Amino acid sequence: MGVVYLVGGGPGDPGLLTLRAARALRRADVIVHDALVSPRILDLAPASAERIPVGKRCGGRCTPQDEINRILIDSARRVAVVVRLKGGDPFVFGRGGEEALALSEAGVRFRVVPGITAAVGAAAYAGVPLTHRDYASAVTFIAGHEATGRAESRVAWNTLAAADGTIVIYMGVGRLREIVARLIAAGRSPTTPAALIQWATCPEQRTVTATLASLADEVERAGLGAPAVIVVGRVVGIREKLIAQGRRARREDRSLRIRAPALP
Ligand code: SAH
Repeated sequence: MGVVYLVGGGPGDPGLLTLRAARALRRADVIVHDALVSPRILDLAPASAERIPVGKRCGGRCTPQDEINRILIDSARRVAVVVRLKGGDPFVFGRGGEEALALSEAGVRFRVVPGITAAVGAAAYAGVPLTHRDYASAVTFIAGHEATGRAESRVAWNTLAAADGTIVIYMGVGRLREIVARLIAAGRSPTTPAALIQWATCPEQRTVTATLASLADEVERAGLGAPAVIVVGRVVGIREKLIAQGRRARREDRSLRIRAPALP
């Protein structure tokens, strides 16, 4: 009976992979991977490893979670090392919890290898500290597709809007207008700084900053879409200063690598 590693592959930049994730990949007999995972990360696995793509963007169809669970369990019965490679962190909106439960119920051994989640990678590469003593003492990660469609969203919008912390919304691009309206209706100031960061940490990274009220229009104007995270909070205002400093520092020291994409 093999072991399944639930591995976080980080948000895109292969440099953000952990050493433990790289080690698991190098030992993999089977890799069950998400569509968004970079080929450069997949290339760490031996050429002989069997690669099984699952997830939304593969061939236009979404592999049902039950089928993914079954593939993991069957693979663990066939080979020694199975790597379930996911974007970001497996336990942040990654269904890693469901897979861990299914494996444990089937009596399959597993290990979780954490990864840098999209919010953390995006914030770092876009120059937005998620917390700052003067601006935000809390940060909340939200699944944006929970925003509407249900009579009772599981997201406590009123509490979130009232607290002054940073909010990072995953999977929210398609519902950006509804999310913004909901936050403003629940009491967040329309002038709160906000950003949308697309393809964070990847060479294609693009960022739009605006106020909460104007973010959706600005994003539309710039033509940005998924995959992206939306960051709302006063910390977004720090970005301009960091970018200016990053540019200066880069001129002086080529080794500094603060990624500062131009504002549209
Ligand atoms: N487990 C992942 C999240 C999976 S949900 C993690 O921890 O990051 C998928 C969502 O993650 C996307 O809809 C998007 O909101 C976000 N995401 C993943 N990779 C991203 C990237 N490189 N840039 C911006 N957002 C990203």
